[in-house]
Amino acid sequence: MNRREFITNSALLGLGAALPPAADLLAASLPKRRKTLVLGIDGMDIKLATSFMRLGLLPNFSKLAQSGGFTPITTSFPPQSPVAWSSFSVGAWPALHGIYDFIHRDPATMAPYLSTSQVSAPEKTLAIGGLDIPLAAGKVRNLRQGRPFWDYLADYHIPTTIHQMPGNFPCLHDKVNMLSGMGTPDLRGGYGSFTLITTAPPANAHTITGGVVVPISFTNGYAEALIEGPDNTLRQGHPPVTVPLQIWRDRDRAVVRLLIQGQEFVLNQGDWTGWIHLSFTMLNHLSEVKGIAKILIKDVHPEFALYVSPINIDPASPGLPIFSSPAYGKELSRQLGPFHTKGLPEDTKALSYDVLDNGQYLEQAYQLIDESRTGLEYEMGKLARRDEGVLFYYFSTLDQDSHMFWRAIDPESPLYTKELDRQFGHALKDLYVEMDKCLGRAMNTFDIRDPNFQLLVMSDHGFGPFRRQVNLNSWLYEQGYCAVNNASNLEDGEYFANVNWQKTAAYALGINGIYLNLAGREQFGSLSENQASSVLSKIRQGLLDLRDPKNGYKVVTDVFQTSAEEKRTNPHAPDLIVGWNLGYRTSWTSILGSFARETITDNDDRWSGDHCIDPALVPAILFSNKKITQAKPTMIDVTATILSEHGIPIPSQMKGSSLYQG
Ligand SMILES: [Zn+2]
Repeated sequence: MNRREFITNSALLGLGAALPPAADLLAASLPKRRKTLVLGIDGMDIKLATSFMRLGLLPNFSKLAQSGGFTPITTSFPPQSPVAWSSFSVGAWPALHGIYDFIHRDPATMAPYLSTSQVSAPEKTLAIGGLDIPLAAGKVRNLRQGRPFWDYLADYHIPTTIHQMPGNFPCLHDKVNMLSGMGTPDLRGGYGSFTLITTAPPANAHTITGGVVVPISFTNGYAEALIEGPDNTLRQGHPPVTVPLQIWRDRDRAVVRLLIQGQEFVLNQGDWTGWIHLSFTMLNHLSEVKGIAKILIKDVHPEFALYVSPINIDPASPGLPIFSSPAYGKELSRQLGPFHTKGLPEDTKALSYDVLDNGQYLEQAYQLIDESRTGLEYEMGKLARRDEGVLFYYFSTLDQDSHMFWRAIDPESPLYTKELDRQFGHALKDLYVEMDKCLGRAMNTFDIRDPNFQLLVMSDHGFGPFRRQVNLNSWLYEQGYCAVNNASNLEDGEYFANVNWQKTAAYALGINGIYLNLAGREQFGSLSENQASSVLSKIRQGLLDLRDPKNGYKVVTDVFQTSAEEKRTNPHAPDLIVGWNLGYRTSWTSILGSFARETITDNDDRWSGDHCIDPALVPAILFSNKKITQAKPTMIDVTATILSEHGIPIPSQMKGSSLYQG
């Protein structure tokens, strides 16, 4: 029986008579109708937030902190967003939800996969005359285990909206309104892939990941290009479906005219289009896949360059289950028009490869904030009109932009210059101010002194510099835990291609994980079970002793060892999870199983801040309009608090407790 039914039944059965005599006493003993708003601000850092509050730059955060409080909260080990937000979602650590990293591997096949969801093609197809006809639909599956808090709210009929919770794709639900977030692919099926159409392809075009470079040339001021969309799974060989783009360039002025699927634009250099609807025809008009993208005219003369954003799934006609229900999808696209649907919509790869410059990247970031703010106001309006409910609303801004602009505030970053600091040293501060304005809208909509209203603002982790990158596989090789077939070509070969598995005891995959090459578990396992614990202790100690030869800094401050019990329920869990010191992180090539000649090198990517380190060094942050009395709160206490404030007993799977009863 749920709470509302209990109240109704109690009244019908006259149970009130058996309780304290006065009816108002009965009412007082039952939870009031309450509202909770949770703003989830990915990557909001307590040190930065505190310093900006001291400068008086975040008046709304300061007011909220004075009303209730703010505190660091313990995040997950490792403090990666899919891991941390999944922990918040189910109110328990990875042992329950089974998400340990962005990337996991199947030990039986050694194949890597994205940890939070699985999109599988139809198992059987019929090949007829150049076509591949599926005999059953493909499947999309959320890999997070455990029951999320919104299922409990739904059990109690509490109206709930979960906006872009990371790791929540797909998010089909018949009682909760949801839009999926981080983990939602773009239309090309990845985590985001831009298109650069240019007369001057960059020299590194062939090494660019996260985008496609399309060379063009103009004849009499006219050029054509094809924009690649999704693979056409209905055609043999699965070639990408394309849409044509026609470009007319003014001979003298920096102006172009574009024509794309009947939509015409006249744009100056530096102009963005809004969202453009794109339709990719797989077979005929009965099988079209719809997407939306934005175009930026980067350069017109002498060379021409045009940027097309990653093609987002069109919310008006989604080909994958990004909404909890078609009805909610229709409601949002009708109310808001087109909006970003890709998880992590900021195009960080385009900035890493200088396809967008610093200013252009920030323009896109601000457009995304505006869009999120409009969506927030719409959902807050709905919550304000109800007499009870829960709204979780997510912002990716601070996380993605802190990754990209840390180099402008960190004089020890290999990419820091005084000029960069002068031009963009304020970028993060400005973005914190934007978040403060969003909070201000919430505080205008709701009364934070209302005892029946709960306002929580939380992040999933803090932030730190990422100056030096460590190739963990190379370190394991150096230490004799990992063997290779060809030591003279250590850097060649992707995804463990060079590894001699018969002589390998351990390997690293993902941002924080180390795995034993265990006989009977791994496909080419060679380490026996009785050698496992001594190898794990030696690797652990070796990492804790590791010093950076460049400066003598300690590289690792903690290493988490997964328990045998946890590995029984989650056989895919890493055996060790590395907690890097501030300034360090797993190298770009090690993440996907490659090696480097030098183990520790400068990180020269514009992705210059990070948080996938020792969680003790990057705690998350929590603001509440109620006084937080718990001594050392964690992210999973926030989950427990949401339920308990709505009168729902904390389920046994959830390991946290109320923030207000410490
Ligand atoms: Zn991040």
